[in-house]
Amino acid sequence: MDVLSGHVLTEDGIIEGYVCIEGGTVTSVEDGRPTAAPLATGLIVPPLVNSHTHCADGGLKIPPGMTFMDLVAPPDGLKHVHLRGLSDQALESDIRRYAYASWRNGAGTFIDFREGGEKGCRMLRNAAPASTILGRPVSEGYDRDEISRILDTADGIGISSISDMDHGYIERVADQVREERKIFAIHASERVREDIDLILSLDPAFIVHMTEATDSDLLKCAESEVPVVVCARSNLYFSKTPPIKRMLDCGVDIAIGTDNAMFGGPDMRLEASAFRGVLLSQGGSADDIVGPLFRNGRKILYPHNKICVAAGMKADLSVFPCSGEFRIEEMLQSSGPVFRYEPGKEE
Ligand SMILES: [Zn+2]
Repeated sequence: MDVLSGHVLTEDGIIEGYVCIEGGTVTSVEDGRPTAAPLATGLIVPPLVNSHTHCADGGLKIPPGMTFMDLVAPPDGLKHVHLRGLSDQALESDIRRYAYASWRNGAGTFIDFREGGEKGCRMLRNAAPASTILGRPVSEGYDRDEISRILDTADGIGISSISDMDHGYIERVADQVREERKIFAIHASERVREDIDLILSLDPAFIVHMTEATDSDLLKCAESEVPVVVCARSNLYFSKTPPIKRMLDCGVDIAIGTDNAMFGGPDMRLEASAFRGVLLSQGGSADDIVGPLFRNGRKILYPHNKICVAAGMKADLSVFPCSGEFRIEEMLQSSGPVFRYEPGKEE
C-alpha cells in the first residue's frame, strides 16, 4: 500500500488527512496522520485541468509594443505567421516541451485551442497524447467533411471568436460538434464586448475570457451554466483586467487557463497567483481560488465522481508542496516540485 499525506481535496473541502492507494486505486481517504511513512506530503488533488491553452507558440519571442491585433488576430497576427513559418519538427518539439512542463506542474491535461486544422490536431495528439484538443477549421466556408476529419482526432472545436468569423459558419460548426457529442468552445468578449446571446445560442461547453462582459452578460452565463475560463496573465499583458469578483458575484463557474505559451508556460500556480492578485484587488477572498484552480476545470471534462479525491477512483494524483496549516496563498507561493502519483508507476 502507498500513502500520500498532508491535506486532501475532498467533496467536503480541503481536509487534513491522507490517501491510501492499492493497485493503482484510491482505497480510502482518512482524517489525521498516517502510521505508515508517506511517499509524499502536501496538498493532494486530482491533476489540474489547465482549461485554456495555445501550446504551440512557446517559441515566439514577442517584440515590444505589439497590440492584440498585431499579435494574435487570425490569419496574419505575428503568432500565426510564426506558426506557419516553423518546420513540423520544430513545432512538435515546442509542443513536447510544453506538455512536459504542464505535467511537471501538476496538470493532467490542458485544453488546447489548436490552430492548423486537422494536421495541427494530429501533430498535437502525437506530441502530447494526454492533451485535450479543440481543433479549428481552416476552410473559408463551412465544410462538413473537414469538421468530421478534425473530430476524428480532436476532442472538439475551439473557435477564435464571433467577431472573426461568419456567424452562419460558426453556427453550423457548433451544430455538428453537438451532433457528434464533442466539446464546442469559443473566446468571448476578450477585446471588445460581444453579443452574449449569440454566443450562448451556440451552446458552448465553456467560453474564454469575458474581460469586457457586463453584469448582465455574466448573469446569463451563470443562468445557462456555461463556465468562463479566466486567463489573467494573458489579459494583463494586453492591459485588460478580468472581472473575477463580478463573475463570482454573478454566480459564474470560473476555471483557469494559461492561454498562449508565448505569454508564459503552463504553470497553474503562477497563473493562479495572477488570478489571486486581480481577485484581491477587486475585494475578493483568496479562498475563492480553490474552486477555479482545482475543481472547475475538471468539471468541464469529467463526471461528478472524478472532481475530488475519493475512494474507488484511479490514483492519478498531484501533490503540491505546502506545510503545516493549509493556506492557498502559501501553496501558490511555493515553487517546489509537484509530486505526481500515476497508476502503473507505483510497482
Ligand atoms: Zn485563447
